[in-house]
Amino acid sequence: MNYCTRCLYPENHPFNLTFDENGVCSGCRIHEEKDTINWDERKEMLREILEKYRCRNGSNYDCIIPVSGGKDSHYQTYVIKEMYGLNPLLVTFNHGMNTKRGIRNLENLVTKFNCDHLRYTMKPSLFKKLARLAMKKMGDMCWHCHAGITTYPVQIAAKFKVPLIVWVRISGLTMWECSLSMIW
Ligand SMILES: [Zn+2]
Repeated sequence: MNYCTRCLYPENHPFNLTFDENGVCSGCRIHEEKDTINWDERKEMLREILEKYRCRNGSNYDCIIPVSGGKDSHYQTYVIKEMYGLNPLLVTFNHGMNTKRGIRNLENLVTKFNCDHLRYTMKPSLFKKLARLAMKKMGDMCWHCHAGITTYPVQIAAKFKVPLIVWVRISGLTMWECSLSMIW
């Protein structure tokens, strides 16, 4: 098993990391980009993209933000709602392993930013079945969680006809590294 020589993430990490000739993972390399990016230019680019999808008559959400309730979710929602004034729909796939603090953080996110929030929770018997199957097939009891957090927001975007999903890039930690996916 190879591990990133910098952050020690393993090669079988579910995010499909790749390693360069120095044994540094793709996540670490992308993280380095933040030092050379023109952030003012990026802010303007983001503003232009967001304005393109803003719902002009207020009849629908402007975008979807997939959230877990952690620091990235709070920052994403702050930027989209407070800095750019959009009306996001927050979407969560419940992985079923919640701590009291995690539940509190998610509630805090929804309450503090005053956003609508949809959360999918599967029944415990199905969760157990999937966790067991994922462990056997993938060696990861939470593989279905990774699949769920990437597919459920897309399903909701299609269902509610929301044209934009604001993701945090998996290998990045800041909002300005987010990618924006156009559904329609
Ligand atoms: Zn790394």
